[in-house]
Amino acid sequence: MSEPTQPASAAIETVVVDGLGLAKSIRAELAREVAALVEAGRRAPCLAVVLVGDDPASRSYIKGKQRACARIGMESVEHLLPEDTPEPALLELVAKLNADDGVDGILVQLPLPAHISPAAVAEAVDPAKDADALHPSTSGKLLAGTADLISCTPLGVMAILDHHQVPLEGAQAVVIGRSNIVGKPVSLLLQQRNATVTMCHSRTRNLPEICRQADVLVAAVGRPRMVKGDWIKPGAAVMDVGVSEVDGKLVGDVDFEAAQGVASLITPSRRGIGPMTITMLLRNTLHAYRARTNA
Ligand code: NAP
Repeated sequence: MSEPTQPASAAIETVVVDGLGLAKSIRAELAREVAALVEAGRRAPCLAVVLVGDDPASRSYIKGKQRACARIGMESVEHLLPEDTPEPALLELVAKLNADDGVDGILVQLPLPAHISPAAVAEAVDPAKDADALHPSTSGKLLAGTADLISCTPLGVMAILDHHQVPLEGAQAVVIGRSNIVGKPVSLLLQQRNATVTMCHSRTRNLPEICRQADVLVAAVGRPRMVKGDWIKPGAAVMDVGVSEVDGKLVGDVDFEAAQGVASLITPSRRGIGPMTITMLLRNTLHAYRARTNA
C-alpha cells in the first residue's frame, strides 16, 4: 500500500525559537551549579570583561554580560580603556588578567579600534581562560574535536537545534559566513554531529540555489534580510545569527516574514540567538573555572 501523501500546498507551521526562554532555563541550571560551589566553600567563578573605547552597542553588550553573571551568582570585573589605548597597554592588561588567580574567564569585547590587532589580542589570552574561545589553540582543539571551550554563538546555535530535536545526522547544513567567531566554528560543530556542511561566503556562486538544499540553514553575515523566502527549503531549520539595525530596529539576515510557512523552525532577531550567546559565555567561564580549580 502506498504511503498517504501530503498535498503539495500543505502549510508548514513555523516554530519561532524562544531563545530567551531556553537561555533562562540553562542559566537556572548554571546558577544551581555556582550555588553548589559556593555552598561547598569555594569562591564563585569570575569573568573579566575588557572594553576599549566607548561604542554604545559594545558598552550595552558588556553590561548585559555582567548582569547575566550577577544573576547566576558569578563575579565579573570590568576594565574600560580609552579608545586610544595602545596595543601594548591592552596586551599588558590581558597578561595581568592571565596571571590573576581570581579570574577564570577573559573576554575582550570586539570590535577593537583599528590600531589594535584582534589576532594579537586573541593570542594573548591564556587558553585556560579563553571564555570567548578565540585563541588559535582553542580553535585547533575544536578542529580536532577535543575542545571544551567553544565559541559562544555556535554553541548557542547547537543548543537551540538540540532543544528542538532537529535531526543533524546526515542532514544537509548550509552556513553562510566563514568568520572565526561564528561561521567556521558552527560549520565544524555541525560536521562533528554528522551533518554534511557547505560553507558559503561573499564569493560563493549560486547562493540561493545552495541554500535551497539546506535542511539546516545558518546565516551569519550581517546583511539585513539577505536570505529570501524562496532560498529556504520547505521544512528547514533556520538559524538567523546576523544582526543589523534598520530604521532603529534589529533585523536579521533572513527575511523573517517570508520564512513563515516555509521554515519549520526559525530564530527571531530579538530573543533568539543573542541570549543564548551570553548564556554560553557563562557556561564557558564555569567550565574554565572547573578545569583551572579542579572543582
Ligand atoms: P563577519 O566577520 O563580518 O563575517 C561575515 C561573513 O559573511 C564573511 O564570511 C563574509 O564573507 C560573509 N558575507 C558577506 N557578504 C556576503 C554575501 N553577500 N553573501 C554571502 N556571504 C557574505 O561577521 P561575524 O562576526 O561572523 O557576524 C555575522 C553576523 O552575526 C553579524 O551581523 C553579527 O552582528 C552577528 N552576530 C550575532 C551574534 C549574536 O549573539 N546574535 C553573535 C555574533 C555575531 P567573506 O569571508 O568572503 O568576506
